Amino acid sequence: MTTCCPAPDLHIHTRYCGHAGGELDAYVLHAIQMGLPEIGFAGHFPYPDGFVETVPNCVIPARDFPLFVEEALRLQSRYKESIAIRLAAEIDFLPDFTEQIRSALTQWPLDYVIGSVHMLDGIPLSITIWRYLSPASRSWAARTGCGSVTGGRWRR
Ligand SMILES: [Zn+2]
Repeated sequence: MTTCCPAPDLHIHTRYCGHAGGELDAYVLHAIQMGLPEIGFAGHFPYPDGFVETVPNCVIPARDFPLFVEEALRLQSRYKESIAIRLAAEIDFLPDFTEQIRSALTQWPLDYVIGSVHMLDGIPLSITIWRYLSPASRSWAARTGCGSVTGGRWRR
C-alpha cells in the first residue's frame, strides 16, 4: 500500500482581502496539523491607481498590503522548521493596467502570482455566474471553497 502526501495549498486568502477570517497563525497551525508540506498566502493584490472598482472590498487595500506581506514573512520565519510558507498575490487581468500592475508587483518579495479573471469589460463574473448556478451547485461551491474557480466572493 502506498501513501500519498497531502498536496500543498497555494491559494489561501485571508482577512486582509476579506475573503476569509481569523488569524494567519491559525491557518499555519492547521496546515501543519494536516501534514501539508507547503502553503501560500495569496492576497488579492490592490487595484492599480485609476481603476474603478465594480465590486468594492474584494482586494487588499493598498494601505494594508505591507501589513499582509509583513505578517506572511513573519510566519514564514517563525514556522520555517515545520512548513514552507510562500508569499503570493492574486491579481485580476486588467488589460488597461498591465504595465502599472507589473511595476507594482516587482516592489514586493512575492514567490509567485496567481492570475485571475473576475470580470470582463467591467462586469463582475462572480455575481453574474452566481445568479445562474443551481442551489446544489451553490452549496457545493460554498462547501468546497471552489468559488474562486468562477471568481471571488460567494454570497450565501
Ligand atoms: Zn483566489
